Amino acid sequence: MNLSHETLEDLAAAILEAAGSARPEARTVASHLLQANLCGHDSHGVGMLPTYVANIAKGLLQPNRLPETISDRGNFLLFDGHRGYGQVAAKMAMEQGIARCKETGMALVGLRNAHHIGRVGAYGEQSMEAGLISLHFVSVVGHAPMVAPFGGKQGRYGTNPLCIAVPSLNDEDHLLLDMATSKIAVGKARVALNKGQQVSDCALIDSQGRPTENPEVLFTQPQGAILPFGEHKGYGLGLLCEVLAVALTGGASIHPDNARCGGIINHMLTILIDPELYGEQNAIRREIAALIDYLRATPPVQADCPVMVPGDPERKRRQERLTSGILIEEVTWDEIVEAALSVGLDIKKFTHAIC
Ligand code: NAD
Repeated sequence: MNLSHETLEDLAAAILEAAGSARPEARTVASHLLQANLCGHDSHGVGMLPTYVANIAKGLLQPNRLPETISDRGNFLLFDGHRGYGQVAAKMAMEQGIARCKETGMALVGLRNAHHIGRVGAYGEQSMEAGLISLHFVSVVGHAPMVAPFGGKQGRYGTNPLCIAVPSLNDEDHLLLDMATSKIAVGKARVALNKGQQVSDCALIDSQGRPTENPEVLFTQPQGAILPFGEHKGYGLGLLCEVLAVALTGGASIHPDNARCGGIINHMLTILIDPELYGEQNAIRREIAALIDYLRATPPVQADCPVMVPGDPERKRRQERLTSGILIEEVTWDEIVEAALSVGLDIKKFTHAIC
């Protein structure tokens, strides 16, 4: 199924509206999901819609619930998402954090108890559009842990993503490192499962701790686990993402004394820095751009695989998909149709636009 991004975004917004969201919320979440698809992260795109619809039905996701301001002290802002759409809560938290950072030069923004905030890179992009540097530490809680600590054979924590965004001289040179601290995001295993593909890269273990390439181990009981990227180093980074996201937001971590009600809950700690604080911005940005040029010019191991910097793969994919459309494989499409039907939406009017 190949759809233009406009059609897919309209379809996503219609499903979200039928599932209970007011139109502005539906458009914000749909736009976030489509941007994830456009930049190649199908794991965080419209394929999440069936999960969101199911979580609303179970009371695990609350449409139209805006974040509450818990603390507003100098350059520290704290919000509670109260299980509302994370894409809405995080965008609003970032808007307020960006405004505060413009006043003070630096800001610390905590968001706790948001339902899935999606692709964290979206908030890095939001900061860079405002000319700011941002660092985001995210924990994933609320459900059974999916990532095994280094040396362990059972899941004990989440895919806890980290994002660092640094604006450069122009959009093509903005640096956006946005990654799960596990070898793969859970959504990537879901996409592989739906496509009937195996997962390589020694990313998974089964419930006995044996290496496997079968993504099904994450979605069946007894459950397998994903391994951290970079062995002990990725484990340390994933753990610290959780600790930072919890320590400064008051959110509950994933240990079993805390209730795991189901659904996907994210806590996020964001550090915003206005590089104008340090003056000489043009000189600094030229320095970063020169470094990026130097790295991109490294002779590649494979002639057809040039060296890139973080953010390049997403830029490239976005250019491709804006023209070629977005391919949704059959199982995911069927799940989306089923989710639409479950909220009373007849999606026939969208399907005429299928390429
Ligand atoms: P990934 O492995 O595809 O990419 C990670 C980073 O590496 C990106 O910044 C990318 O630009 C960079 N990169 C990739 N190839 C590169 C190359 N050849 N040279 C230089 N840089 C390169 O991403 P991922 O770890 O699978 O994460 C996917 C998405 O999942 C992210 O957007 C993340 O925010 C999201 N996520 C969200 C949650 C949540 O709970 N909300 C949890 C986990 C992951």
